[in-house]
Amino acid sequence: MKATILAVGTEILFGSTVNTNAVFLSQQLNLLGIDVLRHITIGDNRKRLLRALEVAFEDCDLVFSTGGLGPTEDDMTKETIAEFFGKKLVENKAWTEMMSSWFSKNGRVMSENNRKQAFIPEGASVLDNPNGTAPGFILSDGRRTIFVMPGPPREMQPMFTDHILPNLKKLQDSTLYYKMIRTVGIGESDLETALLDIIDVQTDPTIATYVKDFSAMVRVASKRKTLEEAQKAVEETTEQIRERIGKYIYSEDNEDLQQAVLRIMKSRGLTLSSAESITGGMFAKLFTDIPGSSAVLDRSIVTYSNAAKISELGVSSDTLEKYGAVSAQTAEEMVRGLARCSGSDICISVTGHAGPDTSDGLPVGLFYVGLCAFGKVSVKEYRARRTKRDDVRKLACQEMYRLIYEALK
Ligand code: ATP
Ligand code: MG
Repeated sequence: MKATILAVGTEILFGSTVNTNAVFLSQQLNLLGIDVLRHITIGDNRKRLLRALEVAFEDCDLVFSTGGLGPTEDDMTKETIAEFFGKKLVENKAWTEMMSSWFSKNGRVMSENNRKQAFIPEGASVLDNPNGTAPGFILSDGRRTIFVMPGPPREMQPMFTDHILPNLKKLQDSTLYYKMIRTVGIGESDLETALLDIIDVQTDPTIATYVKDFSAMVRVASKRKTLEEAQKAVEETTEQIRERIGKYIYSEDNEDLQQAVLRIMKSRGLTLSSAESITGGMFAKLFTDIPGSSAVLDRSIVTYSNAAKISELGVSSDTLEKYGAVSAQTAEEMVRGLARCSGSDICISVTGHAGPDTSDGLPVGLFYVGLCAFGKVSVKEYRARRTKRDDVRKLACQEMYRLIYEALK
């Protein structure tokens, strides 16, 4: 099955609303194995809506539309969809009654505009909307089917999940299964090169590489008649990928690196502490975002000033004076101090320049990570290629987790 997602709403064309409905529906439909061929956005305009429906149904059997159902929209959307299918709008009496009892219960009078919302194309089945006054509907002529939903996500999403999804599952002729293989220590282009010959001959499973938060990943997806067949195909391709790049893979469950670190450390009963300067607590934030992190994280100390580095971690003022706060020596003394006061199995420190300016002539993007893993201390220097403040800090966190992961291996 093939689908077009159609958003109706001038506010999307203005850029004042982000079309998150298309994102939600694409994700949902892809999981069902329905191919989404295009997204179309139009304003409230009869001619362009007719044109959009024509284009959509040229190669799709399904159209999912959102928006334009409100009482103020002059019924443009509904009227035009009815016109396209050669149907009239008829009143859905049950909906009118439901609305009027809702209005009287809330001590309000139902306006003529509201009443118009109860009109849907003849022959359409109504879709309940517990979160609003506009019903959705499904209209089909056997060959072409349109699912019409309201614009607000809090109305559209439950309507899709509760009333459309069960219908689609019945129609479904294939299932998509996919796996996200996450890597560390290899860039996207090297990853692609290593897999090029399998990527080149792929039809199903498909293999695609992505980058998220500085880490390259591979998506392996298969669409088959049954879930078991799809899983088997994905597993076979995954085995081929493991043979090529196995040493870079840290997770096949779409985990972030910090999640993998937590999983491993927890299973081994290890503890972790951090001393952060440039990242200002971001390292600990990422870790404590994960439920269950308290089993592993002992402490994270944000030592931003020189004074804090001296009093909290025992960094010597001579070191700070001689080498500066952004130096391998400072990173090392930070992590040694942290190991002394925390006694954690793994301690990590970071100091650097996130920019945009630096006061000591050192470049933005320079940072040092100190690691004390099971008593062994090491320091690494990094020079971020991207020098936007937030990118530098995120990269620093990523590299800290990477060093910990490597130490755990
Ligand atoms: P209403 O009864 O609220 O007018 P409606 O079905 O007419 O519902 P629209 O008027 O098109 O829907 O949109 C109402 C609101 O829903 C928008 O202001 C926006 O906040 C949200 N919305 C509409 N379309 C989308 C979309 N494609 N993605 C995300 N949000 C949307
Ligand atoms: Mg509206």
